[in-house]
Amino acid sequence: MGKNDKGIREGLVSLRRHVETLNVRHHNKDPVDLLRTMIEVEFPGKIAVVTSFGAESAVLLDLVARVSRDVPIIFLDTGKHFSETLTYQQTLIEHLGLTDVRNNCPDPSEIERSDPQGRLWQESPDHCCHLRKILPVEKALRPFDVWITGRKRFQNQERAQLEIFESNETHVKINPLVLWDETEVADYLRERDLPRHPLVEKGYPSIGCAPCTRAIKSGESLRAGRWSESEKTECGIHKAAWAR
Ligand code: SF4
Repeated sequence: MGKNDKGIREGLVSLRRHVETLNVRHHNKDPVDLLRTMIEVEFPGKIAVVTSFGAESAVLLDLVARVSRDVPIIFLDTGKHFSETLTYQQTLIEHLGLTDVRNNCPDPSEIERSDPQGRLWQESPDHCCHLRKILPVEKALRPFDVWITGRKRFQNQERAQLEIFESNETHVKINPLVLWDETEVADYLRERDLPRHPLVEKGYPSIGCAPCTRAIKSGESLRAGRWSESEKTECGIHKAAWAR
């Protein structure tokens, strides 16, 4: 092992220990206190939020805005969103007073080369998500050490074991809502009188790109309307090699 490799390995071990300590220390902390500590004390200037401006995004964005309206907010502008999502983004920006929302688009030359007709989502949704989400989020997060997500354990089986803090080779991930359940989310939206995504009342409790999202039927799980024609359940931004 070279000196450089050894240094990187030691750095990763130390980062993982730090994350373990954070999980123990902040397990029961109120989300606003948790975010304040992370944004102002632990990782000042190194944090960004990644959000879809979807059905529940207002909760996380409001919690962050209660600490600081200036935290960078990364939105993956895939070119395939519902027009309602783009309108809702503006509504939330104004309502919460967010000052640094960054729309990250896919590389036009990649789209021209691999998805000139815009139908890749039909033939290969994984490849489409790679071009339109995974590559752009990787680039958008390069200036940061830490990203905040809105994932929750109750959302699906794959998220059931999530911890508040995770780390990989490049970033720490913070999931401040991981322990919240559906009722807590609904209560928070109501108590804070937050604007709702217009598609929620039309039967969309989870909202991604338009071609890959449908309204759910009675009795279906909250994410049943995502990629419902395929086995796919996640876009993959948390499974990419650099993000695991
Ligand atoms: S969710 Fe669908 S349209 Fe959006 S990037 Fe993934 S496959 Fe493409």
